[in-house]
Amino acid sequence: MTFDYDLFVIGGGSGGVRAARVAAATGAKVGLAEEYRMGGTCVIRGCVPKKLMVFASGFSEMFDDARAYGWDVKEGPFDWPRFSTTLNSELDRLEGVYRKMLNGSKVDVFDARGSLKDPHTISLSTGQEISAKHILVATGGRPVVPEMQGAELGITSNDIFKLPEMPKSILIVGGGYIASEFAGILNGLGVEVTQFYRGAQILRGFDGEARGLVAEGMRAKGVDLHLGTNIVEMWAATQDDLDGHFEGVPMVSGQPAQFPHGAPAHGICVKATNGTEKVYDQVMFATGRSPNTDGMGLEDAGVALGRRGEVVVDEFSQTNVPSIYAIGDVTNRVQLTPVAIREGMAFVETVFKGNPTAVDHALIPSAVFTQPELGTVGLTEEKAREIEPVEIYCTSFKPMNHAFAGREDRALMKLVVSKATRIVLGCHIVADHAGEMIQLVGIAIKMGATKEDFDRTVAVHPTMAEELVTMKEPMRSA
Ligand code: NDP
Repeated sequence: MTFDYDLFVIGGGSGGVRAARVAAATGAKVGLAEEYRMGGTCVIRGCVPKKLMVFASGFSEMFDDARAYGWDVKEGPFDWPRFSTTLNSELDRLEGVYRKMLNGSKVDVFDARGSLKDPHTISLSTGQEISAKHILVATGGRPVVPEMQGAELGITSNDIFKLPEMPKSILIVGGGYIASEFAGILNGLGVEVTQFYRGAQILRGFDGEARGLVAEGMRAKGVDLHLGTNIVEMWAATQDDLDGHFEGVPMVSGQPAQFPHGAPAHGICVKATNGTEKVYDQVMFATGRSPNTDGMGLEDAGVALGRRGEVVVDEFSQTNVPSIYAIGDVTNRVQLTPVAIREGMAFVETVFKGNPTAVDHALIPSAVFTQPELGTVGLTEEKAREIEPVEIYCTSFKPMNHAFAGREDRALMKLVVSKATRIVLGCHIVADHAGEMIQLVGIAIKMGATKEDFDRTVAVHPTMAEELVTMKEPMRSA
């Protein structure tokens, strides 16, 4: 049987694009369909614009620091339209790079939505039908908003980059990566940020001590974080709500003459589980993401889906239909760009290079770009204690650059060590550039380094990271 393509990829995000290019390099005939912009969540509405906003927001503290270091600088307001124009041109440039790479790799790109008709046929929204020997589903995920009265008034991380103006105040709902990162970003950009998290501490699943320090740091920088709190209901604020909210503000023609923080006469009134009722300019839900499998024809092609709508795959990213594979967030394994890329590479290795390669999901280093930043790899103290006796090496200190500038920010360096084997099971860092540091520690831990390997490594002085190789005595054993 002959097919139009050896491989057809649905979804032009990081995973799909990489798999398409690497497969094409083996001589395979490859097509790819993307319904929106090339680059997917990471490039267009995720990691890349988010990180640029982290950089932008960091400047607000640098003015004070610069003055502490002897510079005569004056702080000015943040110009969101100016920043977002440059941001959008950068995203256009990156999308162009993705398209150029695909063209250079001789991948045929279809600017259309693709869905499955059967195990070897893709229907495009243009009406075209394409046959392929192998189909790779790489359609990613999308934010989910909880069902509640008035939830449609809220925005998600997809919308934040496209706002025409910065809100004066925002309520962020959620305590995961996205909620906590945007709380810091918007706070740094001068927005009054309130964050509601329903649980006892943000960043569930991360090391307890690290979570505590991140939350403490976020609060110290101005985020109004409420734990054990959720929205009961929300509605478009009425004049009565505004009158109540802006009590004491003089009224002119039935409108407040001047809002305390210059807010326009609109907003969303939120009733919370802690009994408060407050008006915010915006409410942002960062309450998790769902795999993009709706209306994809997956069931028609016989592909099994899991409880959360994810495509169920084996270790080689193959579905129960042998010709159909899936990688990245649509499989709901580990929702991280570099993991999707690895899954794409392993798929090509398996299917086009005759070298069956399972994806290794163990010991994935990752960073949360909160302010302060968190870098982590391996087991948390809590998880490790459940498995075996461990020693905890830990230090918390004021880094010299912050101490000099009179800032209170503290850093945390923590190693979780197996008592039996001395292997470093986990590392958790809360500090500026923790993401950069954890990438490098990740190599040592992936190689199975012991505490003694860390100890015999000479410190780089004066740095924060030197603490990782100079912690002599365990803080505690368990
Ligand atoms: P997460 O799953 O990390 O967090 C979702 C948050 O929303 C949790 O705090 C959860 O609470 C809360 N929540 C869920 N449902 C409700 C509800 N009905 N009401 C109130 N709160 C609710 O998802 P994110 O959207 O933050 O991020 C998605 C994924 O994207 C992450 O898992 C991560 O892998 C990836 N990502 C990675 C980044 C990075 O590498 N730096 C940056 C951004 C995203 P609870 O804890 O109680 O379940």
